[in-house]
Amino acid sequence: MELDHGRRTALEPAGPEDVEPRDDLTPFQAVNFEFDRAARRLGLGEDLQVSLKTPFREVMIELPLRTGDGQLRTYRGFRVQHDSSRGPMKGGIRYHPRVDLDDVRALASLMTWKTAVVDIPFGGAKGGVDCDPSELTRNELERLTRRMTERIHMFIGPDIDIPAPDVNTGPSVMAWIVDEYAKFHGHTPGVVTGKPIELGGSEGRLSATGDGLGLLTERMLDAEGRDIAGSSVAIQGFGNVGSFAALDLSRRGARVVAASDVRGGVFSGTGLDVERLREAVASDGSVVAYDGPHESVTNEELLALEVDVLMPAALGGILTSANAHDVKAAVVVEGANGPTTPAAERILKERGIPVLPDILANAGGVTASYFEWVQNAQHFRWAARRVREELHQTLNAAFDDVRSVCQEAHVGYRLAAFMLAVRRVARTAEMRGL
Ligand code: NAD
Repeated sequence: MELDHGRRTALEPAGPEDVEPRDDLTPFQAVNFEFDRAARRLGLGEDLQVSLKTPFREVMIELPLRTGDGQLRTYRGFRVQHDSSRGPMKGGIRYHPRVDLDDVRALASLMTWKTAVVDIPFGGAKGGVDCDPSELTRNELERLTRRMTERIHMFIGPDIDIPAPDVNTGPSVMAWIVDEYAKFHGHTPGVVTGKPIELGGSEGRLSATGDGLGLLTERMLDAEGRDIAGSSVAIQGFGNVGSFAALDLSRRGARVVAASDVRGGVFSGTGLDVERLREAVASDGSVVAYDGPHESVTNEELLALEVDVLMPAALGGILTSANAHDVKAAVVVEGANGPTTPAAERILKERGIPVLPDILANAGGVTASYFEWVQNAQHFRWAARRVREELHQTLNAAFDDVRSVCQEAHVGYRLAAFMLAVRRVARTAEMRGL
């Protein structure tokens, strides 16, 4: 696969050999560490590698906001469109003070590989605003979202780039984007996914990432010769992803023994009641308000619990070389994007702890987003059952595909998933030409 186009991008170090699996890789370097390993295995030409890694477009915007108390705050917003070889670009929007360009680049590139792993006709993108939504009123969040939309509407659209919810954003933020986008382009529900059902959202989308994590955890445990029934699970992060994963896992017979969020965590060896955990979050905003029998655990202690499954489902860069030696779980399943640094993954591998990577494990969300987009294009609503069946079919096929590469190439889940994804994207990039 040789394409002669362009030189190395300034974004990247000279080559895979230059990058050690250290903890201090930036998030984008960490994703490309995996990409490089996959590309080398596949024998991709160097110029094609550079082209596939380099983001297609990066938009940075200023977002001034006059808050209710008269203060002027200025935030920065980002939209990175990574690759569109396989279709319109797709990826969430995150509101978090830690958002920066490198982080969004990493998340956008992960979306390119994730949509390819599950073989849906999308590329990858991601967006973010470096705000702390807990400091903003609902009205301020709405104004911030509208201003962001006003400044990126010309770069997004159902056939170009389709945002969705991510950390600290959800159906309401999507509804404001639909409304603001309509002022420029007319009513276009397919411009975002993860909308409220009444506005063209899909049945099953809200819980899809967590539902997919449940299904794929069961598949992985089975492949590793373990049974999900009675297995113990610790989940860090109890937002959209973590809470729905907990529900699905408990329905499959697993015991959720620990859960945490930004305020702390709770543990019970006999299992926590997932509905009561969700009630605690709904009423008091945190699992620490859980009113069943439990002990408190810190987020760091949770990572070191003796459990069958450890599921980081909050932010990236959580498992590092500083704590990977303490992990006692039998397997790690990545609910969050990028929670394991390459250095931590190497330690886990040496210790015989397999990791189901983000680009497969949490792909249920973008898969259901694809179904939402299809329904919007069809002007037709699918029943919840159809969404569930199609979701299971897509994720089971993706798991089978990744397992086949694991077995054929004698590699772990992450490298196999990257090899599958990079091969698929490279093929379409070559077919389309330049
Ligand atoms: P969310 O905002 O609904 O929930 C985030 C959770 O993480 C909250 O419980 C929060 O308290 C907790 N958290 C935040 N900072 C923390 C910290 N420092 N320590 C411990 N807990 C902390 O977000 P979400 O949509 O559930 O996303 C979680 C992760 O899953 C992110 O990495 C996101 O990119 C990824 N993801 C989300 C989706 C989706 O459909 N929403 C899909 C795929 C992947």
